[in-house]
Amino acid sequence: MEPDIFDLIKERTVILDGGMGTELIRHGLKQGGCSESWNAENTDIVKKIHKSYYDAGSDAVLTNSFGGNKIKLDSHGLGERCHELNLAAAKIAVNAKTREKYVAGSMGPTGKFLKPHGEFTEEEFEKAYAIQAQALAEGGVDFLLIETQYDLNEALCALRAAKKSSSIPVFVTMTFNINPRGYFTIMGNSVAQCFEELQKSDVHGLGANCTLDSADMTGLIKIMRDATPLPLIAQANAGQPSVSSDGQIVYSQDIEDYVRYIPQMIENGVNLIGGCCGTNPDYIKRMAEVIRSQ
Ligand SMILES: [Zn+2]
Repeated sequence: MEPDIFDLIKERTVILDGGMGTELIRHGLKQGGCSESWNAENTDIVKKIHKSYYDAGSDAVLTNSFGGNKIKLDSHGLGERCHELNLAAAKIAVNAKTREKYVAGSMGPTGKFLKPHGEFTEEEFEKAYAIQAQALAEGGVDFLLIETQYDLNEALCALRAAKKSSSIPVFVTMTFNINPRGYFTIMGNSVAQCFEELQKSDVHGLGANCTLDSADMTGLIKIMRDATPLPLIAQANAGQPSVSSDGQIVYSQDIEDYVRYIPQMIENGVNLIGGCCGTNPDYIKRMAEVIRSQ
C-alpha cells in the first residue's frame, strides 16, 4: 500500500511541478491551441514533460487538463471529447510516475462567468466540471486540484462537482491579486471569505496559484495560514510576463530570485510548493534543493 499524500504532507514540504503550458509551447503547441488535445495526439511529449518534473524533484505533477472542463473544451470545438481527453491526461501522468510519486488532476477555470456577470448557471458549471472530475479519477489520479479560480462561486461549483463524481481528495487554489487593501480575486473575494466557504463544502486542502510572484505569494501564505488549518498550497508565477524583442514571453524573476523566498514561505506555513507561469523543470530542481537544505 502506497502512503497517501496526507502522510507525506505531515512529514515534510511537498514539491509540486511548474508550468505545463509554456513547456508545451516550447515543444510546438501554437499560442491559443488546445493543450488537452495533445493528450491524444502527442502523448509522448506530455509524458516527457511530466517525467522531467519528476526527475527535477516533484513529488506530484499536475495532469495536462487545466482547460479540460467541458465548457472550456467547447471553445475549441472539443467538448464532446471531454471524458476521453481527461482520462488520457490522467493515464499519461500515472504512466510517467514511479511508485512513490503522486498525480494531481488539474481542473482550471471555464473562462466564462456565472449569471448575472455572464450567461452560465451554476448547474451548467457543475455539469461541465463533473465530466472532467469523473474522468480524471477514473484515470487514477491521487487527488484533484481545482486551480487558478478567480470566482469563489465558480470554485464552489467545481468543488461540488468533484465531490459528487469521485471519492478522492479535492484541493482548491484561488488566484489573488494584491492591492493596497490586501489580497482579492478579480471578483473581489477575500482570502477569509473564500477559505470559509470552501471549508464549509469539505475541501481537503487550500491555497493560491498564478498571478503573484514568489515575493507577494510569501506574504499571502501568512494570511492564508491564519485562515485555515488545512494543508496549504502555493504556486507562484516567475514574476510578471513581458514580450521580448524576438516575440517570446519572458518572466521577470530568474531562478535565484524566485527561490530565495522559499525558506520564508515554509516559515509562513505552506505545505505544498510548486511553480506556475514562467517556471520550468530548472526552477523546480533548484526549489527542491532549497527545500531539502532547510
Ligand atoms: Zn500561472
